[in-house]
Amino acid sequence: MDNPLDQFPLTEAAAAAERANSKGQRLEIEFSSLKKQHQQLRLMCQALWELLRERAKFEDVALTSKMYDIQERQKSAQKQQIACEGCGRDNAANRQKCLYCGAELEDYDPFA
Ligand SMILES: [Zn+2]
Repeated sequence: MDNPLDQFPLTEAAAAAERANSKGQRLEIEFSSLKKQHQQLRLMCQALWELLRERAKFEDVALTSKMYDIQERQKSAQKQQIACEGCGRDNAANRQKCLYCGAELEDYDPFA
């Protein structure tokens, strides 16, 4: 099955950003692309939620409750830190790559 997000190719925006003459122009194109991607993800989330509500009979309170659970889990993960072997800086335990140097973090835990 096709990924619905493939209907909204972002490669054109990325190519335009590469060709941009100035940093400001490039950032403007990248911002516009991210904004578009954000709108697409919002649309997809809303569609998924409406399907779950209509077909699986989930209630809105189940969604908000799960959102709070995930938010609490993320706050907890932000407190857990692992040191990067590349640059030595601390990163959140659920990061796959170092925020500072981009090195792979060997001990990352996606569920932390
Ligand atoms: Zn690093």
